[in-house]
Order: sequence, then C-alpha cells, then structure tokens
Amino acid sequence: MTDAARPAADPVSARRTFAIISHPDAGKTTLTEKLLLFGGAIQLAGEVKAKRNRVSTRSDWMAIEKSRGISVVTSVMTFEYGGHVFNLLDTPGHEDFSEDTYRTLTAVDSAVMVIDAAKGIEARTRKLFEVCRLRDIPIVTFVNKMDRETRDPFDLLDEIEKTLALDTAPVNWPIGRGRSFAGTYDLVRSTVRGLDEEVVPRSVSGPDDPLFDELLPDPAERATFREEVELAREGLNAFDLAAFREGHLTPVFFGSALRNYGVRDLIDALGAVAPPPRAQDADGRAVEAAEPKMTGFVFKIQANMDPNHRDRIAFMRVCSGRLQRGMKAKLVRTGKPITLSAPQFFFAQDRAVADEAFAGDVVGIPNHGTLRIGDTLTEGEDLVFRGVPSFAPEIMRRVKLSDAMKAKKLKEALQQLAEEGVVQLFVPHDGSGAIVGVVGALQLDVLKERLQAEYSLPIDYEQTRFSVCRWIASEDERKLDEFMNANRSAMADDLDGAPVFLAPSPFSLRYDEERWPQIRFTDIKDYQ
Ligand code: GDP
Repeated sequence: MTDAARPAADPVSARRTFAIISHPDAGKTTLTEKLLLFGGAIQLAGEVKAKRNRVSTRSDWMAIEKSRGISVVTSVMTFEYGGHVFNLLDTPGHEDFSEDTYRTLTAVDSAVMVIDAAKGIEARTRKLFEVCRLRDIPIVTFVNKMDRETRDPFDLLDEIEKTLALDTAPVNWPIGRGRSFAGTYDLVRSTVRGLDEEVVPRSVSGPDDPLFDELLPDPAERATFREEVELAREGLNAFDLAAFREGHLTPVFFGSALRNYGVRDLIDALGAVAPPPRAQDADGRAVEAAEPKMTGFVFKIQANMDPNHRDRIAFMRVCSGRLQRGMKAKLVRTGKPITLSAPQFFFAQDRAVADEAFAGDVVGIPNHGTLRIGDTLTEGEDLVFRGVPSFAPEIMRRVKLSDAMKAKKLKEALQQLAEEGVVQLFVPHDGSGAIVGVVGALQLDVLKERLQAEYSLPIDYEQTRFSVCRWIASEDERKLDEFMNANRSAMADDLDGAPVFLAPSPFSLRYDEERWPQIRFTDIKDYQ
C-alpha cells in the first residue's frame, strides 16, 4: 500500500464515504470514537459512547428522539485525515434495527467490517455483509479486541473466507495477543506501530528485527509471531486492489480499538485504497462522480419529533457535481423545482449550514414532506437513481384504531410515515384495515409513539394471519391478473401501488411459487 498522507488532487477523489458494519458489541462505537479522535473531529474519546449509552434502551431512545438531535447528529460524521475527507455514515446500532441500516449502505462507497476476535463472524455482520455484496461494496476488515483472549488469526481468516465466500489478505499482523498484544506489523511495508500514537510507523528489517525482542519479551511468543508472519506471507493472499474494489477480496487488519492498536493502519488503508465516490446507476445510464452537474438521491428521512414542527430532514448523497447553498434543483419525481436554501453539513458534534458539497458527501435538506426516500435531485436532467431498495418486512401487523371517526386521518398519517420510511404500508385489496411491515420490531413502537405524539392517533396492533410478503410481477399481464384474482384476500398494494402478495408462512409461499411459475416473487424492491 502507498502512503496515505499524500493529499488527493481534487475534492471528489479525496472523499471516502463509508459505513461500519458489525454485530452489536464487536466494537463499532469504540472504533468510531477513535477514528473521529485521530481525525481531530472530537476532542475526547468517549463522546460517541456517551451518546450511545443514552440511546441503548427503548424508552431512552424515544426520549432522545423527542429531545431531537442525537441520531441526526451522529447519522453522518465528517472528518479529515492525511489529506482525505472521510464521511462516516452511521448504521443505527440498536439491538433491533430498521431498514435505515440497509438504506444507509446504498449511500456508501466502502464498508469497514468489525469482527470480535474471540467470536468471529456473527449473525448481524453476516446479514449486513450480504447487503454490501448486493452492491459489490468493497469491504475492509478490522479484527478487533486482539488485546483479549482471541481465536487463532488463521482460523479467523479461514472463517471469513468460508462463511462469506470472500478472499482475505492480511495487511498487518498482530504482535502477540491477549495480554502481550503489543502492536501491529505491516506485512507489506515491514513497519511497526505500537501504541497508536505513532502517526508514521517505524521501519524494521523484518520479523527478526531486534525491536521485537522488546515488544515481545517472551521467547515463545516471539517465535510464534515470527513463524506466523512467515506462514502468512507465504501461504495467504497478497492484497490485490482490483479484487478488493470488485468486492471479492477484503484486506484484513488486526487491532484493538480500545487500546488504539491498528486504528491508524486502518485509516491509512481507507485513504490509500478505499474507493473514491463511485459512479451511480440511474435508469438509462451511470452517473460518474466527476460529472459537473449536481445529482443526488435521498436515502434517509429524519423527522423532527417536536409535534409543533412537522419539518423533516432528508439525507441526500451527492452523486456528482457541486451542491451549492441556494441553488435550485429539480425533484425528478414531481418535476418541480426545490431550492436548497439551507443544506446542512454534518460534523461529529454539530450541524452547520453548508456552502458547498461534492460527490460522496451527505447533506441534510430540511423540508416539509416534499422529499421521499429514493427521490432523485438533479440540475434538470430526468434521471432516477436506482438502488435504494425496499426489503420484504419480517414482521407484519394490522393497525387497529379505537376511534373509527379518525380512519381518514390515520390513512394520511400512515402514508406520510411510510414515505419517511418508518414502516412499510400495505393496503389490502379486500378493503380490510391497513397492514404495516417492519424489519425490526422497534419500528412498531416508533410508529405507535409517533402516531400518538404527532397526529393524536392512539393505535394498537393486531396479529395478521400473514408472516411473509413478496412483490409480484410477470411478463404475462393476464397471468398476473389471474393470480391476483385467485388470491384477492392475500393481495395488497404498497406505497407506490405495486402489488404485494401476503402469505401465512414460508412453506405456503413456496407452494404458491411452485404452482405459479409465471409469476416472479421478489423480496427486494428498488424504489422507483
Ligand atoms: P458496539 O456495540 O459494536 O458499538 O461495541 P462497543 O464499541 O460499544 O464495544 C463493546 C464493548 O467492547 C465495550 O465494553 C468496549 O469497551 C469493549 N471493546 C471495544 N473494543 C475493544 C477492544 O479493542 N478491546 C477490548 N478489550 N474491549 C473492547
């Protein structure tokens, strides 16, 4: 790898927009903290943690959302390091998680996968990894907590390769582990970083360098280290930039976020090899980041929880050009102009009004419900970005309203909240009450709370007989009609009027899939 300290030539190629994916407890918050600390974005490590602790229980989470801000502020964290501008997009870290997590991954160019060295690949990591793979997002791996009892590094690499079908290339190697973990050795450049105060790593002659006598006083541990380095160099993949950028190979860093080991190795690598803003697929053509005209898409909406202010912030990823404060953009869905009078730029602790933003940046656009998830903004061109998908919900409930007089109001409120992406909304063809679907159960609480607080609509949930849903399509319109007629009581429309089939169980879904080979059943739908 080359030195990351060289500033990149222009603002777009200097940008690195990424997210951290991990299973809860692997160390995402701690690593975020350290990245921000080294990037000078926060004064004291502990900031992120303090916020995180406050949002870690359901009731607190609600309170925080109400008092406004924390999750908005931490949604995007921008910091500079070694001549690069890093935009770290937060993937919500609740036990329960929502589609926002998935959608955020459509707005990044790379991801850091944090793995607990004692646990290896865990369920959530795997799920998030699959979402990254759908978009061929390059992944850099950080094996965390090397200062504790760990599994064998070779085993961990092997597990990543086998469970994720992803080649690995270790870039640094741990110098000792557990209590004797003393730093990292760069296998490519033959340099050492101890406690990560060192911005520039020390060059050594190789694994036999006398420096290791100091770092690893125990001769047995030193011998193991030397042996492992030889084995790793001979037996494992070397880093291959093309394979990494295509999403087939992950460079692996060992470290300890808590103890500052390996963190600078990781940031250097993100600067040196993680991709700058990628070309984004729109219908009809791909939009290059270097194109002069501004384009962008909305991937997340954050509502103001204060019921007196129904404004929302739409998070837009700039895909090309330069966004300037005060410019007029076209909202392609409606064809109407929208003035970007107060785009907000995000820093670790604060929001500030931005004067300009470039491809790869994320800006917050305050609006009153004009912008929806998946919306494209341009300087006039009629193009629509693909790739802010909707995932088939895993939990479905019917919304029960105690006051029948308010049915119309409920309909409007559900529509608005579904546009914000709080839940997915399904309107059954048979005229029965609306069904909402979510990926994580927390969203049901959020919906209930917000209906009460913002619309004065007390609701409850009822079980439905459905547990699975699929969008349906067919080349043959007649077959599609035939299917929908035959299954009228199991059909609903989603927010955009697309037909959705609801099934009581995966088993019965499989049965219908076999019976109706002309129908395509999909569990991911791109926003139009
Ligand atoms: P998250 O849930 O992924 O955000 O994980 P946190 O960053 O909150 O870390 C979970 C726990 O692991 C906390 O108690 C951290 O202090 C601890 N932790 C994180 N990184 C390390 C590390 O490198 N070494 C050790 N020993 N503990 C760590």
